[in-house]
Amino acid sequence: MTETRAAVADGHGTYAIESVGLADPGPGEVLVALRASGVCHTDWDSLHWGRPLILGHEGAGDVIQVGEGVMLCKAGDRVMLNWAIPCGICFQCARGKENICEDRGTVPDSSFVRRAPGKEIASAGAMPARNTGGTGPGAFNASFSLGTMATHALVPQAAVLPLPDRVPYEIGAILGCAVMTGFGSAVNAAHVREGSTVVVLGCGGVGLSTMLGARYCEADRILAIDINPDRLALARQFGATETLLADRNDRGLLQAAAQVRAQTGGRGADYAFECTAVPELGAAPLAMVRSAGTAVGVSGIEKVVLVDMELFEWDKLYINPLYGACRPQRDFPLMLDLYLDGRLPLDAMVTRRYPLEALDRAFADMHSGINAKGVLLPG
Ligand SMILES: [Zn+2]
Ligand SMILES: [Zn+2]
Repeated sequence: MTETRAAVADGHGTYAIESVGLADPGPGEVLVALRASGVCHTDWDSLHWGRPLILGHEGAGDVIQVGEGVMLCKAGDRVMLNWAIPCGICFQCARGKENICEDRGTVPDSSFVRRAPGKEIASAGAMPARNTGGTGPGAFNASFSLGTMATHALVPQAAVLPLPDRVPYEIGAILGCAVMTGFGSAVNAAHVREGSTVVVLGCGGVGLSTMLGARYCEADRILAIDINPDRLALARQFGATETLLADRNDRGLLQAAAQVRAQTGGRGADYAFECTAVPELGAAPLAMVRSAGTAVGVSGIEKVVLVDMELFEWDKLYINPLYGACRPQRDFPLMLDLYLDGRLPLDAMVTRRYPLEALDRAFADMHSGINAKGVLLPG
């Protein structure tokens, strides 16, 4: 058993740094000492998932120990983690849709022993729910079967990818969520065409990564929209060819959409990507694209949104890819190569670093919008 110091959510909006015991890796499992963990809006959401869990789903570190039958890595390897842990054989995986695998890899709840002050809480067996870990009374495990906001994580081997020596841990950590989501939404899901015009709403880590994907696809124009001028300046470094400062009071970004149309000969953009995580903007990309254009919901809004169906006129497509339609063994080696070639300027995306104990501050900075991406350094 390995003792880890971990940020543990109570399921009802708060969390604490606690000591958790992790079992030795079982068959197909890997124990990783974490060196970096990205801070993401999903971590904030996971505070409210109604059950205790180890926070964090973006991580990179060093393999400490591997269980029986692990072929993909060995002790001492530098690795990054991906949170959509494909089984490789289910209905969706067989169709190349590993991002929406129906039988994602998990680690049994019994592998986690929580040491609450003065008592030991072993988890009761629980069924996985929504592929994000266990549920039900007594369930305790790790967010997305990773739990990266900790000094150590016990993960299925399909979550692990090699991290080349020259790639910093913090880059590996952000590649595993924000970068994959944005880059993949442009490259894998929307298949942005060469020479096209692309609008990106929201210039946080996911929006900036979407611009990198659009640039990789050789889009001609990339128009970045945000309410924060500093973020628009950053967007230029990530491929934006034009920027538009939106007004906080512009409901549904309809004024901004009118401006986009004016700048595209009255027609609208070929693609628009919503990367704001603001529910009210769920339909905003539809207002930005031309007839038969493609609107993409990148940030994964899961709220009721009122949509004026006229925004779909005409022949518009709205797609809602999970995790940039990630196929880990195809996509991460590509993005790592592009980073090493200097084509993904990801160092500029990591705005601030925090010790594990400063997670409060990291969340506050994320909400205030001053970070493109914040990273915890747990170990
Ligand atoms: Zn994330
Ligand atoms: Zn599968």
